[in-house]
Amino acid sequence: MKKVVKFGGSSLASAEQFRKVAGIIHADPDRRYVVPSAPGKRFKSDTKVTDLLYACQRAAEAGLPIDDKMELVAERYRDIIRELDLSLSLEDEFEKIKKDIVAGAGSDYAASRGEYLNGQVLAAFLGFPFIDAADVIRFGNTGAFLGDETNDLLRERLEGLEYAVIPGFYGRCKDGHIHTFSRGGSDITGSIVARAVRADMYENWTDVSGVLITDPSIIPDAKPIPILTYRELRELSYMGFSVLHEEAIFPVRSEGIPIHILNTNDPAAPGTMIVDTTSIKSDYVITGIAGKRGFVAVNVDKAMMNAEIGFGRRVLQAFEDNGISFEHLPSGIDTMTVFVHQDEFEAKEQQVLSRIRELCSPDLLEVENGMALIAVVGRGMRSQRGTAGRIFSALAHARVNVRMIDQGSSELNIIIGVSDDDFAAAIRAIYDIFVNTRL
Ligand code: ASP
Repeated sequence: MKKVVKFGGSSLASAEQFRKVAGIIHADPDRRYVVPSAPGKRFKSDTKVTDLLYACQRAAEAGLPIDDKMELVAERYRDIIRELDLSLSLEDEFEKIKKDIVAGAGSDYAASRGEYLNGQVLAAFLGFPFIDAADVIRFGNTGAFLGDETNDLLRERLEGLEYAVIPGFYGRCKDGHIHTFSRGGSDITGSIVARAVRADMYENWTDVSGVLITDPSIIPDAKPIPILTYRELRELSYMGFSVLHEEAIFPVRSEGIPIHILNTNDPAAPGTMIVDTTSIKSDYVITGIAGKRGFVAVNVDKAMMNAEIGFGRRVLQAFEDNGISFEHLPSGIDTMTVFVHQDEFEAKEQQVLSRIRELCSPDLLEVENGMALIAVVGRGMRSQRGTAGRIFSALAHARVNVRMIDQGSSELNIIIGVSDDDFAAAIRAIYDIFVNTRL
């Protein structure tokens, strides 16, 4: 068996956390390739090393000295190195990084140094070889990730190595510049490494005991999901789930490698397994509930719209011309509604509306703000009669007015539009009916 293990920032925030991580890795010889994040927060008001590095970059850009800020970064690593009793010194690295940032190496370079340095500390502590991600993760000059080239490079580099540490989050462009994925991108690196070495499992170690059925800020004792499919996770993460970076499933998905979400602070907890397909039924009819606030519904009414060829395309063209993506598109016989993100839409609202008027001559054009969308997701819904009925009667009991309904053609999800003010009540009602009362 071959496992790739990724540890998030909070799992590597202090020497104490490093010890837990080493304990986990040494407990299973299959845990061979390790992908670390930069040190995260040690306590609530702490600052992540990545954020300190972005602050260094901003100061340098403004022509201000960065010594104090770089010192904070250096201290985080010095503390860990000292407490772990390592003979490693990163002093020359700190000096070089400071000079490079001041000389204008750029924001991606600055941010990437958190993982770069942490990888060296972890490699020294584990006694594993360190592989600089700049040598094995490749981007095009415009920043597009080059999957096949990276796969070949990584495979070749890791072939002869039984164990290795490869820092997450960054790689190098063809022109030599360091480039990062978006925030939280070490999850993607872990997935890319798992694909390259054809791992049997991609373990993603974090600070929660798996993916929860819904947001714990709404349901404080929300239960974990033992197993879910990549598709279910996609539906949930697109609607606001944030355990794993949205893009992290694609490299492993193409090879069918399962992802196991585990908790560094509670390694014995079963966690959540994310798989291609499974015959295991979920504990409840639904697998998860996710949602987002802050949508606007743009209603376009026109008599006989259904007979007018190209009407839908022209409505969407008005959004496309203004660079706005849409989220949902429920329609009726003479009406079509376009759901968009409020923060994207606001600034261009009037341009979009006048373009719709110009292209479609609608009878009525209305905008409603303060909308929330909730996705109820579950592979079990397809084979279960009455799921939608139960959702809507629960919402009616909770006095939530349903403004929009959209069942995906995969029957994997039902999307419900409610007012922002009803958001939490709606999620509570749905959770209650399926999980607490198991109806
Ligand atoms: N350190 C980076 C961040 O804070 C990447 C990561 O942790 O995955 O976003």
